[in-house]
Amino acid sequence: MKIWLDGALRDSESARVSVFDHGLTVGDGIFETVKAVAGRPFALTRHLDRLTRSARGLGLPDPDLDEVRRACAAVLEANPAPLGRLRLTYTGGHGPLGSDRGDKGPTLVVALGETARRPDTTSVVTVPWTRNERGALTGLKTTSYAENVVALARAHEHGATEALFGNTVGALCEGTGSNVFVVLDGEIHTPPLHSGCLAGITRRLVAEWTGAKETDLPLDVLREADEIFLTSTLRDVQAVHRVDDRELSAAPGPVTAKAMRIFDERSAADIDP
Ligand code: PLP
Repeated sequence: MKIWLDGALRDSESARVSVFDHGLTVGDGIFETVKAVAGRPFALTRHLDRLTRSARGLGLPDPDLDEVRRACAAVLEANPAPLGRLRLTYTGGHGPLGSDRGDKGPTLVVALGETARRPDTTSVVTVPWTRNERGALTGLKTTSYAENVVALARAHEHGATEALFGNTVGALCEGTGSNVFVVLDGEIHTPPLHSGCLAGITRRLVAEWTGAKETDLPLDVLREADEIFLTSTLRDVQAVHRVDDRELSAAPGPVTAKAMRIFDERSAADIDP
């Protein structure tokens, strides 16, 4: 596998990042996961915009987007695959032990992982831990993901594939790696960004293409919603057939099925919307 590191394509077996890289020692980094279909990255411009926003939020220098685009193209060309996930990681770089950054500049790694098309439906659990809607990292796609790792492990213990968080005021927020939508009386709703959720790219496209509304929703809405679905780069639109001990008998329901269809059609027609 060829990856991009320090300005060049390298063999992943021999590529090395410092053990003092702040991405490793203090989780000082940001990332993007970009779907690549037949070697073409989906919605790359939106991912690069979010990468820049996350970098600014963390006080990292703006990434060189020309280099990032070249890196993505080179990695995709070197590792042909029908469906893949580009992983862009950008960290504070080599620095002293502790939280102060060094002066060697950031580290950029672009790698490609395999992925498979997700099933149309899945089950989720809610977790007792909260997303902080007013934290320094809220809304940034940082590599400080351990909270998501713990919550996802909880989901797996219950035979589910995703864990959903509420925020500190009891509002529905998001999943560990996905945004959440609910259908109420035929209308689609998703939590607003001030709930503390990530500005998901799939979330934005689905909202634009289906007319979904941003609505403050209590976590309890999951008990009564007619339909529930998740969105993410790797799930696309995925219906929820079970939340905790509640079965949603006919998943995907008609509104979710339509959203799935619209997303599949529009995203296939425009690779960089
Ligand atoms: N929320 C979180 C916490 C995520 O990590 C992700 C994606 O990884 C999403 C939502 C969905 O975002 P996107 O649609 O851009 O993949």
